[in-house]
Amino acid sequence: MQTQACQDLDRAHHLHPFTDFKALGEQGSRVITHAQGVYVHDSEGHRILDGMAGLWCVNLGYGRRELVEAAAVQMTELPYYNTFFNTTHPPVARLAEKLCALAPPHINHVFFTGSGSEANDTVLRMVRRYWALKGKPEKQWIIGRENGYHGSTVAGMSLGGMAPMHDQGGPCVPGITHVRQPYWFGEGQDQSPEAFGRACAAALEEKILELGEDKVAAFIAEPVQGAGGAIMPPASYWPAVKAVLAKYDILLIADEVICGFGRLGAWFGSQHFGLAPDLMPIAKGLSSGYLPIGGVLVGDRVADTLIEEGGEFCHGFTYSGHPTCAAVALKNLELLEAEGIVERVRDDLGPYLAERWAELGDHPLVGEARSLGLMGALELIDPATEERFDKALSAGNLCRDICFATGLVMRSVGDTMIIAPPLVITRDEIDELVCLARQALNETA
Ligand code: PLP
Repeated sequence: MQTQACQDLDRAHHLHPFTDFKALGEQGSRVITHAQGVYVHDSEGHRILDGMAGLWCVNLGYGRRELVEAAAVQMTELPYYNTFFNTTHPPVARLAEKLCALAPPHINHVFFTGSGSEANDTVLRMVRRYWALKGKPEKQWIIGRENGYHGSTVAGMSLGGMAPMHDQGGPCVPGITHVRQPYWFGEGQDQSPEAFGRACAAALEEKILELGEDKVAAFIAEPVQGAGGAIMPPASYWPAVKAVLAKYDILLIADEVICGFGRLGAWFGSQHFGLAPDLMPIAKGLSSGYLPIGGVLVGDRVADTLIEEGGEFCHGFTYSGHPTCAAVALKNLELLEAEGIVERVRDDLGPYLAERWAELGDHPLVGEARSLGLMGALELIDPATEERFDKALSAGNLCRDICFATGLVMRSVGDTMIIAPPLVITRDEIDELVCLARQALNETA
């Protein structure tokens, strides 16, 4: 199909997610046609280094025949069957076992969904059901974080703390509130990172006391905030938060939709930070984005109660445990494991990216360059003032567009530039990524 014809059809009929429809209509979309390894290709013959692994999901990189074959075999045998009415099938049973083997030891069950948003709808219902079964139905409040992201369904966006999402199509789900995020560069520079991390945990405790210490069901957070700007919390943050949650007997939901499956150099972000969450929503890297699948890893405390005391759990999706998606996810996990990819991120690629990415900190436009595993961010500043740019300049979007034009996908969240490349990226490709990012910074200046 010709580029123009595709763009015209797209413009005429396709409403894109998180997009200003009119502005896109005027500008037109870039047509992506194929991909291999860490590169995507457009219809005009350009090769683009995918510094975002699609949407933080193509962990294994593009073009893996093994995943295609796993899908083809499963589609031939049993393309679809539900798991509602006392039926199961080998791929979903095997995938559940594999996930529980990879998860922390107190997690032995998984509930499948079609996406990360559905996973977060599921946790919302699970935690409230759990406390009702425990005879504490008043434990209803769920505390999330400002600028956290937990998806785009009504429950997902309510749990998330993105104000522009709350402002559209409301009202949000009742009984959810938010506390400050551990974003030192953006909000904490008047104190040391460690003091700021403790202050954020103290703000959580204040919120719990304000709501009533017997009224809070759960705290939900990403181990590292992804969509909010690749925000790595100060080292003091998670230990202090863990202590607060333990003090008031509040469940921890660690949203692993981005951090899971190797992004931080551990199978789950929770393992990197030494967390033992009660519930872990997962998606994205579970299938490396080849097919849509998500789920919730459920710790024994909640699972045992739901199983032993809960009766029917009135919740589920047509595609919960979809056999073809499950077969692809299982093969994806097997390949990540067999190829030692998570360990390579931890021992080699993560430290290498950290070294190369930190070099960009010298650029006059960069106020901070940070990374953890294969996730990184650059905070753009105006070299004249060493403060944030005037918002109206949209410096981040400009830098993002220059990157995209010159052959690198980086995302911008305001003036924070983000990368999260496929976990199969090589050192040479990291060099290319850093070089392209520097070039884009030069052109943005
Ligand atoms: N949770 C987190 C942490 C995410 O980053 C996302 C998506 O970016 C979601 C949930 C929602 O996942 P999905 O887009 O698959 O519904």
